[in-house]
Amino acid sequence: MKSAIQERLREILPLEELPLFFSAIEELVAKPRKSLRVSSRNRLSATELSAHGVSLEGEVPWAKGFGHFFRKESLPDPAHHPLIASGLVYIQEASAMEVVEMLDVRPGMHVLDLCAAPGGKSTQILDRLLGQGFLVANEVNRERVKKLDAMLARWGYLNLAVLSMDGAQMESAFPQHFDRVLVDAPCSSESFFAKRNDHRADVSERESLQFQRLQIGLLSNGFQMLKEGGRLVYSTCTYSRLENEEVLASLVNVFGDAVKILSEQRRWPHRDRVPGGYLAVVEKRLVNGFESNLRLNSLAGREEWAKKMDGIREKVRVEAQGWNGEPNAYALVMAGEKSPDLFSRDIVLTTPEATEFLKRQWSGDQSKDRLRVLWNEFPIGLFQYGKGIRSYIFPQNL
Ligand code: SAM
Repeated sequence: MKSAIQERLREILPLEELPLFFSAIEELVAKPRKSLRVSSRNRLSATELSAHGVSLEGEVPWAKGFGHFFRKESLPDPAHHPLIASGLVYIQEASAMEVVEMLDVRPGMHVLDLCAAPGGKSTQILDRLLGQGFLVANEVNRERVKKLDAMLARWGYLNLAVLSMDGAQMESAFPQHFDRVLVDAPCSSESFFAKRNDHRADVSERESLQFQRLQIGLLSNGFQMLKEGGRLVYSTCTYSRLENEEVLASLVNVFGDAVKILSEQRRWPHRDRVPGGYLAVVEKRLVNGFESNLRLNSLAGREEWAKKMDGIREKVRVEAQGWNGEPNAYALVMAGEKSPDLFSRDIVLTTPEATEFLKRQWSGDQSKDRLRVLWNEFPIGLFQYGKGIRSYIFPQNL
């Protein structure tokens, strides 16, 4: 690695640690440390993993009971291994496993993963929700959202919706809604490239500043969607202060005392034997003035949403609520006239109006067995094929 990264590291590491940092990176390049996470749906023990031929090399210290280091040679073709294909195991960088742990997700919560593809952290959030509550996994990139969708389908939980929206668009759809928000931001990925000995680890300040602009925007979007008293985690896999501490500082700058920083931490190659990354945990506090501003925005948002929901309800009969044990989601069961030209599978609609409504408004894209639908750019939900169509509509307390 060359000079730019060295210069930047000088700002954040004591001088005597720099040689240790670079030799630890060399070691990671020569002998990569691979790690995996087991799903909570069917938590495989170390013995069971060994029985599948996976040779373990110890637990990830901050992911006890579900995160393991393993020998790369024992999982030579991960993409096609049955454990991975069946969604029982996810190959994940050890430092990434800590991010969701710090988010403190509990069953029943509404959680937003704003930058979700390819889905590693979303699967971990689902593992923490245990089927109760709701995850909105968003990814703006239309190609990457397909991978995300496939990954989450494989993981096996249904209490989620996959969206593809820009952070700013989402902000107005979900003002102060979520109990937990994860902003795992796009970044210059210095640690990712460093462990591969890739010259792209040597990022210029200009590139870092470009990411910073995007990150500041996304963090602000995420914060606006967080409930008062809720918790947000901001994380990157890069070393630069510009993309980490400075981004957090900009949040404090804009939202003042409403931002309570609970913790800020970094993992380092020479201290933790992982490529490393940054994460900050923030809580949203009630503050005079700011609070009333948010309240106003939030009420306006709710009214707008309520009107849109009424529009939908007029056209589509809601037969069941709390479908599949999920108290905070609507289940729409539509029965009656078929619409073969719109969807080829077994979708059954209530009324001619409902048929018309779906014909006119839908603008989602169809994947193997699910359909995401946006209505006037608002997410309606994730349609799941089965005996008739079942769909999540967004939580009724919006
Ligand atoms: N959280 C993911 C995981 O654990 O698998 C990794 C996320 S990756 C670090 C950052 C993602 O943010 C990329 O997939 C990128 O396409 C996406 N992204 C970039 N700009 C975005 C935006 N404006 N809104 C939402 N996502 C964005």
